[in-house]
Amino acid sequence: MNPIYDQHKRPLRDLRISVTDRCNFRCSYCMPEEIFGPDFAFLPTSQILSFEEIERLVKIFVSFGVKKIRITGGEPLMRRDLPVLVKKIRAIQGVEDIAMTTNGSLLKKYAKPLAEAGLDRVSVSLDSLEEERFANMNGHRGKVKNVLAGIEAAAEAGLYVKINMVVQKGKNVEDILPMATFFKEKQHILRFIEYMDVGNSNGWRMDDVFSKKEIIREVEKLSPVKAAAPNYQGEVASRFRYEDGNGEVGVISSVSDSFCGNCSRARVSAEGKLYTCLFATEGTDLRSLIRSELSDEDVAKAIASVWEKRTDRYSDERSEETIKRRKKSKIEMSHIGG
Ligand code: SAM
Ligand code: SF4
Ligand code: SF4
Repeated sequence: MNPIYDQHKRPLRDLRISVTDRCNFRCSYCMPEEIFGPDFAFLPTSQILSFEEIERLVKIFVSFGVKKIRITGGEPLMRRDLPVLVKKIRAIQGVEDIAMTTNGSLLKKYAKPLAEAGLDRVSVSLDSLEEERFANMNGHRGKVKNVLAGIEAAAEAGLYVKINMVVQKGKNVEDILPMATFFKEKQHILRFIEYMDVGNSNGWRMDDVFSKKEIIREVEKLSPVKAAAPNYQGEVASRFRYEDGNGEVGVISSVSDSFCGNCSRARVSAEGKLYTCLFATEGTDLRSLIRSELSDEDVAKAIASVWEKRTDRYSDERSEETIKRRKKSKIEMSHIGG
């Protein structure tokens, strides 16, 4: 193993791979349907990394000490035969943990084959338990009951399940309490995500952010919580344990309380671009490297040289000035995978 560090001495530890830029939802904060309409040009298959190409890249990343792999999208379950990819990644020596982030709409069908292929965990996104508000947030594409069926199937298949809820003022603040109540009872960890200024499509405004503090104040209407230590270095969610000893929630507070100091994640998009920050404006084309005659060692050197130059701290530095500077030029969340 050959660990590499960036300019702020952050190691490369986690890899998030997007397997498709397509999605069957149109969440207003991610792929608003006015922009991602019927004529939107998604990537053609030839430009998307094959499972073999992803497998090769994962092996190279593992040589740097990466142990955790997260599969994401777009909606990863829109990619055909995903269990085949999971099986390939599971077989790579050094991979300790394979997770997937999904909107859960197709999970009922795929939970069992994914678990059998070696998936360890799923994070299922769900922004409301109320059908109409959920529909308003996902562009009238998804149903709460299908996502809940997916969550149940995942737990039954033996996957470790967490729930992600993006909180946006004016959209679903009233859902914090019912979501916390429901998932406390189901004993799944619910993680609230502050609405972020990723991409350029969602019309993000600071006024629409409901902060970590405000979220916790809502949760405490159910039951008091106490801050808990992270499970491991680089954990993105701040943990809060219910004082009654029955469960916990997390908050991913990229806006009100950023965590760039611990950020050890690299992201590879479906077309094989390497991004060193969720708010990046450009990536490094790994696809052309792995489709050339270069050896694994040469590709590893190219990745190391990108990581070793990395200085990203977008959320730590977020201000009106930095937001303006990157206006219109950030990579979309559906492309980079969250
Ligand atoms: N389609 C899958 C899903 O929704 O879980 C995986 C990809 S999605 C881009 C990954 C995560 O990013 C989801 O939990 C989603 O809610 C979150 N997300 C997308 N746009 C966001 C935004 N503007 N602010 C905060 N979280 C966002
Ligand atoms: Fe699709 Fe996930 Fe983005 Fe929603 S958040 S539009 S489900 S990729
Ligand atoms: Fe990491 Fe960039 Fe997010 Fe900071 S803003 S935590 S560097 S992805």
